[in-house]
Amino acid sequence: MQRRTLLHAGAALGLFAMAPPLFAAGKLKPGARAALIVVDVQNCFVDGGTLPVKGGAEVVPVINKLSSAFENVVVTQDWHTPGHASFASAHAGQKAFSSVKLNYGDQVLWPDHCVQGTEDAALHKDLSLPTAQLIIRKGFRKGIDSYSAFEEADRKTPTGLAGYLKARGIQTVYVTGLATDFCVAWTALDARKAGFEAYVIEDATRAIDLNGSLAAAWKQMAAKGVKRIQSTDIQTA
Ligand SMILES: [Zn+2]
Repeated sequence: MQRRTLLHAGAALGLFAMAPPLFAAGKLKPGARAALIVVDVQNCFVDGGTLPVKGGAEVVPVINKLSSAFENVVVTQDWHTPGHASFASAHAGQKAFSSVKLNYGDQVLWPDHCVQGTEDAALHKDLSLPTAQLIIRKGFRKGIDSYSAFEEADRKTPTGLAGYLKARGIQTVYVTGLATDFCVAWTALDARKAGFEAYVIEDATRAIDLNGSLAAAWKQMAAKGVKRIQSTDIQTA
């Protein structure tokens, strides 16, 4: 009788609810039909690089940890020719972070960055993705930029990533990396356009936020059905 009373008292106080759960209910488990896409985590986009994104290096440990939850990992690398069309230095009288019209549309001009084969264009040294299966290089044509991992900035030249993922039965992508409001957002939006379910893992990204571009990107992604989650929403080891 005494024991029973104690049990009741414990239940009333919620003591039993405090026991750690045997498994984390409600967390996302990516599985064989999902891929982690790690966008442009390169020296150029962190402190000391040619186009640093504020806090860019902070995504590295988050992505390393996340990768253990994925059977499929794809990495992208911004990979420009010298004198690339996206460089302000290639346009007389233009400054970085201004915008010009190229033959395929508006193009933001950037400082020279991520030039092919340079240390600046190398993946961040602490990025540890030994199970990554594919590196997609983008922006390697001198006259065309490519924020998206799926389609170049002329909006008609495919990178081949959609075909690769589809051929391997992948239906869902989780996008991480740099920068949230440019290459991450364009990748997630194009993933939707190509018919994939798409998540952006917010704390595994950092933004440039040029003239309100971050808020605009989240709004656009929400409108297209991109889901905004945090790394803790995913079941990791
Ligand atoms: Zn670039």
